Amino acid sequence: NGFKGFGLSEETLGAIEKKGYTQPTEIQRLVLPVALKTDKDIIAQAQTGTGKTAAFAIPLLERIDFRADKSVKALIVTPTRELALQIYEEIKSLKGNRRIKVATVYGGQSMERQLKDLERGVDIVVGTPGRLLDHINRKTLDLSNVKYLVLDEADRMLDMGFLDDVLEIIKQTPASKRTFLFSATMPKEIVNIAKKFMREYEHIST
Ligand code: AMP
Repeated sequence: NGFKGFGLSEETLGAIEKKGYTQPTEIQRLVLPVALKTDKDIIAQAQTGTGKTAAFAIPLLERIDFRADKSVKALIVTPTRELALQIYEEIKSLKGNRRIKVATVYGGQSMERQLKDLERGVDIVVGTPGRLLDHINRKTLDLSNVKYLVLDEADRMLDMGFLDDVLEIIKQTPASKRTFLFSATMPKEIVNIAKKFMREYEHIST
């Protein structure tokens, strides 16, 4: 199995095998070593369908201490409900039997359901900008213990008019977090986010 060289846990390797992934995709081959073995932020230029979800999901599962408490430890911000659900499913399958709670938070989904999940405590939240900000403003989503922030399809969020919402969400996370930004293109607004809000980063493109 081509994933063996990354030093992954047995749990993750088993889950990868179960999904039928035998070789890492190009973006995974480039992102995984930096994400797993360094503490650098990452800007990755990658199109949809390239396996970018696993490229950020595997490092989250490997690097975060999920036993610590009930706080939100990773936040993934993505432009659409469809993407949020896909990311949720990918994380669920890659986590294997580990006790890690994942929840989606997007517009159009029952607020009650989301409130229930958030109240019980979730480790990883996958959401769309508007609804995430809604929860932040209602104080039903606390991001003060976030260790990892993933901005997925950043250029699409920009095109959809979510820039201000995304900036507001970033501001609600601790400065000490690690950020992974994925974008198919790198318009100047995206590069500016990186310059302003990210620490020393590695730029990866496929
Ligand atoms: P993504 O770009 O993350 O949306 O992934 C696109 C598709 O590729 C999804 O259906 C994944 O399940 C699949 N995929 C991701 N990584 C691999 C891999 N290493 N080998 C085979 N399929 C993969």
